[in-house]
Amino acid sequence: LFGALERQPADALLGLIGLFRQDPRATKIDLGVGVYRDDAGETPVMQAIKAAEHRLAETQPTKAYLGAEGDARFVDLLAPIVFGAALAGDPGLTGVQTPGGTGALRLAAELVARGAGDPKVWIGTPTWPNHAPIFREAGVTVRPHPFFDAASGTVDFAAMASALAEAAPGDVVLLHGCCHNPTGAELDAAQWSALTALVVERGLIPLIDLAYQGLGRGLEDDASATRSMLAAAPEAIVAYSCDKNFGLYRDRVGALWVKADGGSLAAVRDNILVLARSLWSMPPDHGAATVREILEDATLTSSWRRELEEMRSRIAGLRAALADADARLAPLAHQGGMFAMLPLPRDAIFALRASHGIYMAESGRINIAGLRGETVASFVAAIAPYLQR
Ligand code: PMP
Repeated sequence: LFGALERQPADALLGLIGLFRQDPRATKIDLGVGVYRDDAGETPVMQAIKAAEHRLAETQPTKAYLGAEGDARFVDLLAPIVFGAALAGDPGLTGVQTPGGTGALRLAAELVARGAGDPKVWIGTPTWPNHAPIFREAGVTVRPHPFFDAASGTVDFAAMASALAEAAPGDVVLLHGCCHNPTGAELDAAQWSALTALVVERGLIPLIDLAYQGLGRGLEDDASATRSMLAAAPEAIVAYSCDKNFGLYRDRVGALWVKADGGSLAAVRDNILVLARSLWSMPPDHGAATVREILEDATLTSSWRRELEEMRSRIAGLRAALADADARLAPLAHQGGMFAMLPLPRDAIFALRASHGIYMAESGRINIAGLRGETVASFVAAIAPYLQR
């Protein structure tokens, strides 16, 4: 049975964690894996989470099975944060809890694979490296489209729009709602509205991956593109992660929402539940229950919002400091979120690792939160000889 299997490449970013650990230099800097870090280089459990977990431990009456939809109250409480009060109550919207944003994306991919015709998913270049495999494993054909213009550090919107003009009605367009991973480059308001018009006109289905709400320009701003796209498109999908904005990474907390017309919504939900049942039966409860505890309580909610805002402003401050330190990093100030793709050749990535203990992905992507105020200057001095812009 297993003789036909081929070896698979190890995950490059996870490999980087091992290399970083083995490096004995005290001055080493980890800009690899995509978790938030505070100024001490830690990824602490948020205080609101600790308080909610404590409460949960005291009061949770049972750990008996939930259904395939997970914690429905969690989904209901999260919806207004994602969609705003008006859209959240839209009867055309159905949502379930999922194991992280990855679970939401995989469930979406399986649903798309069951859809009418032979839908393809259009994915920008570059994107989070797991996007294409998630869709391919579900049997959905992936079509790349241009996204990032490395020379300017911005979205090459003309190239993106002209590629998407080739998409067939019913095709899915995967979009990062905010804080693009890995580039940080975001569509501006005019580009979002042009894209929305294109999606509606061509009958495409937007699938918005919203994994970093609150870590770019703030909870409201980071959701605004998702909201306007959803308001305009008759069918749409949102894959959401709470793993970054609640710091719950390993607890795997996410949600999937689908917008469909009244005639197909019940069937959409039935199919989501049947698919979830065969994928994971039901999502892990603890993280979602913790988020629910927070969102049910005004004091915990404002504590969470405050902590998230601190995280956001630390990242924004580092972006501004990088942009100020070298004119070739100026585009970082206009981007959003934890990541940026530096214009560095591959050999520079290895040279920086060897000579300075600076660890970043081979693509040149950095997790900005891996820097500290006091390491920005030495980091910029180290990369300056290699910057290509
Ligand atoms: N989408 C994007 C763009 C991401 O960067 C990530 C996580 N790196 C995810 C989805 C998945 O998030 P989760 O850990 O919740 O599965």
